[in-house]
Amino acid sequence: MKMSVNIVKVKSVKKITHDVISIQTEKPHLYTFTPGQATEVSINKDGWEEKKRPFTFTSLPIEKYLEFTIKIYPDHLGVTNQLQHLEQGGELILHDVFGAIAYRDEGIFIAGGAGITPFISILRSLASNKQIANNKLIFANKTEGDIILEKELAQLLGDNFINVLSDEQSDRHTYGLIARDIIESMGGSLTTQFYVCGPPPMMEVVLKHLVNLGVDEGTIIQEKI
Ligand SMILES: Cc1cc2nc3c(=O)[nH]c(=O)nc-3n(C[C@H](O)[C@H](O)[C@H](O)COP(=O)(O)OP(=O)(O)OC[C@H]3O[C@@H](n4cnc5c(N)ncnc54)[C@H](O)[C@@H]3O)c2cc1C
Repeated sequence: MKMSVNIVKVKSVKKITHDVISIQTEKPHLYTFTPGQATEVSINKDGWEEKKRPFTFTSLPIEKYLEFTIKIYPDHLGVTNQLQHLEQGGELILHDVFGAIAYRDEGIFIAGGAGITPFISILRSLASNKQIANNKLIFANKTEGDIILEKELAQLLGDNFINVLSDEQSDRHTYGLIARDIIESMGGSLTTQFYVCGPPPMMEVVLKHLVNLGVDEGTIIQEKI
């Protein structure tokens, strides 16, 4: 496969939750991706050029900029810790575009934490094409403060959006882990198209529920983040 490398300048860095930033960059000429895809990113700064990490595009392919929505792990002392100190005019190196997640059919999206990122681009794209239809989202987080783009997702999906919080009880959200009955309450059935993305422990739980519900693996699109 042909390797491609593009250096892009950062246009803006915004904090969108206590540990998530949104980075907008220039978009190289003729650069394309499909909503749900990611690219390996490194920082064009001494000592960081070779440290590549995967991040998902959260902008729409038609936009003139690229956007990434990135959870910062300061204690890893790795790339995300560096990214939070990035400023306008700083440079990122984008490598190949790849990804297992793409929209196939109306269904149920199940995300944990930063696992929402491929679904942000897909849901924004469906909304901009007036095709959001009856797609549904179950979004698992620890606390309300961890929910990425809650307002926008609620606007896009209305009642088809459920938040599940593991570490905080709230009047507005379901408490606990994603359980089988939550999936069933969203109308999940054997023939539903499922999209699952999140950290490995959350994925394991959700996939177990889907198997127990008898869902055919062929109807599950998934990626670990
Ligand atoms: C296809 C794909 C798409 C992704 N898209 C996104 C996205 O859009 N947004 C997003 O936020 N994330 C996304 N991720 C996850 C993201 O790639 C990781 O969060 C990121 O690589 C972390 O990089 P890092 O250098 O900060 O830390 P790491 O590479 O995880 O860690 C750096 C070093 O820190 C140490 N370390 C590791 N774990 C710990 C720990 N728990 N405590 C202390 N030290 C530790 C290790 O020595 C490690 O080498 C995606 C992942 C995949 C696979």
